[in-house]
Amino acid sequence: MEASILKSEKNRAVLLLQDFKLSLVNAIRRSILNSVKTLAIEDVNIFKNYSSMYDEVLAARLGLIPIKTPVPLPSAHKEFTFKLNEMGPKAVHASDIVPSDPDIKPVLGDMLIINLKNGESVDLEAKAVLGDGTEHAKFSPGHVFYHFYPVIDVKTPKVKGAAKIASLCPVDILSGEGDTLAVRKGKLQDCILCMACQDYAGQDTIKISSDSNKVVFDLESWGQLDAKDILSEAITSLEGELKQIAENV
Ligand code: SF4
Repeated sequence: MEASILKSEKNRAVLLLQDFKLSLVNAIRRSILNSVKTLAIEDVNIFKNYSSMYDEVLAARLGLIPIKTPVPLPSAHKEFTFKLNEMGPKAVHASDIVPSDPDIKPVLGDMLIINLKNGESVDLEAKAVLGDGTEHAKFSPGHVFYHFYPVIDVKTPKVKGAAKIASLCPVDILSGEGDTLAVRKGKLQDCILCMACQDYAGQDTIKISSDSNKVVFDLESWGQLDAKDILSEAITSLEGELKQIAENV
């Protein structure tokens, strides 16, 4: 088994996993979605809501705002409070929320919460707690998926309409300049195996298949945690659960 990094950014990690059992790859994916803990707003005390948005909708919108989560994780019972007191006319964004701890704040300040019209206002206090994806999807740390490593065989590089074929690729990995069809350098792993190019041009021109011994594992963080922290938390959690089973059998 061999693992290498294809892309490593703060909010994105793409790994190439060779000769791994798919069951293990999927267990890591599920551990990311269900076991990695992040902070999210759970309770909202609304003191005043003179807006057109129902209390429940306002609270649900606040719950969906990704909150920066420190590493190492805070204790399970620790709560972080936020205040929001705004008067219209104003577009209220996540950056208007005032956190009790300046480091524990919304990841994306420009997320719109509510548009307050003239004379409308809200005054509330919210509490964020740690949770995981089994409690609510708002705690899930990101989007994660995997697919087999693509194999693209351009059988007829010189083809009329190469630019049209290339333009069908939704991830822009094909080039078709001067009626020459090719895969852009370093872009092969981005192919999502949608088959659009092959369906249009035919297998005699371009043939798409995949290598089932190689898996591209793609993780995008919503921003609460860095991608590498999500991976390491997921693997630690999975190891802990397996250890517990081993100790009990
Ligand atoms: S299969 Fe889809 S993603 Fe892959 S090269 Fe063809 S059009 Fe692009």
